[in-house]
Amino acid sequence: MSHELEDLLKTFEKKGINRRHFFKLMAAAGLVTAVGIYKAKEFSSNAKGKIVIIGGGAAGISMAARLNDWLDEPDITLIDPSDRHFYQPGFTLIASGVYQPDEVWRKQEDCMPSGIKWIKDSVAAIDPNKNQVATKNNGKIAYDFLVLTPGLQTNWEKVEGITQATLGEGNAHSIYDFEGAQKTWKALQEFSKTGGKAIYTDTYTKHKCGGAPKKICLLTDDYTRKQETRDKADLHYYTASKELYDIPFFTPRLLKIYEERNIPINLNVRVKGVDTAAKQVHFEKIETVGEQKVYTPFIEDYDFLHFTPPMSLPTSYVKPD
Ligand SMILES: Cc1cc2nc3c(=O)[nH]c(=O)nc-3n(C[C@H](O)[C@H](O)[C@H](O)COP(=O)(O)OP(=O)(O)OC[C@H]3O[C@@H](n4cnc5c(N)ncnc54)[C@H](O)[C@@H]3O)c2cc1C
Repeated sequence: MSHELEDLLKTFEKKGINRRHFFKLMAAAGLVTAVGIYKAKEFSSNAKGKIVIIGGGAAGISMAARLNDWLDEPDITLIDPSDRHFYQPGFTLIASGVYQPDEVWRKQEDCMPSGIKWIKDSVAAIDPNKNQVATKNNGKIAYDFLVLTPGLQTNWEKVEGITQATLGEGNAHSIYDFEGAQKTWKALQEFSKTGGKAIYTDTYTKHKCGGAPKKICLLTDDYTRKQETRDKADLHYYTASKELYDIPFFTPRLLKIYEERNIPINLNVRVKGVDTAAKQVHFEKIETVGEQKVYTPFIEDYDFLHFTPPMSLPTSYVKPD
């Protein structure tokens, strides 16, 4: 394998694609992990320095493992407060009854590559001028190189009427939360018995897995079909985007699937709030008329709601002391 990769790299270099670009392409194709296993030492480096990684999710743990392999004398500290490492794509599968909740998490300590120093804490501030981070409980930690992998934060409070703690109230659910996914599965089973109007929404910000809100909608369709209650379920999908999916290769097929499954799609709509007592979603349709944006509020009743919270980078702590 090592010769094969070296030959491949040389061939690419002859074609004007350098190693850095090659690995970018491999990463985009999801192949870099496979190469990393075989070729770790091919890219070893005797560079020295203390590396601090913020966040031990999928990105932080894989970055720590890769750097640990590549460096001759790794000095890597990973900071993350969570004692559990979640496989978040599994949340969709909990919510559709495919996975049990315990199948989607491991103890963080069991996921930590050997040799990595884990500080179980949160970073409260970064001072790039002094090359140090301030943790909540472990003081300041200096670094030579800083890797930021804190994921996306879910901003529940940006949906009026919703809090993370009260997810599920008024049958308003979200799989973007471990507990929320479990409540969604219970509610989905109940909904398949009672039937009614189900509303599914995404959000106007970048969000983890653009597919997840669409998947839970289609999984409801699938589940109610299996329960032979699909005719009682009236499913509707609302997206904040101007199209259902922004990857042209997939869009036509996805549109066809939604059409075949009789799920109307509403474009350019944002969720402003949810009245969980009245079981109503407060939407806003955003249209561009000439140079102007026109905002039209409207309300929809629901029996079952799956919504996606707005998300953002957790960057509030990136500021000098
Ligand atoms: C419902 C759902 C379905 C999904 N489905 C898919 C799918 O089908 N396919 C797919 O490819 N992806 C899917 N994803 C997306 C995928 O799970 C994420 O892209 C991935 O988990 C991101 O990894 P990450 O390491 O960047 O962030 P995370 O896994 O979120 O990890 C971030 C880590 O940073 C830590 N952290 C945050 N702030 C601080 C701080 N201040 N100090 C220290 N540590 C901090 C957190 O504790 C956390 O452990 C899905 C996600 C969800 C929620």
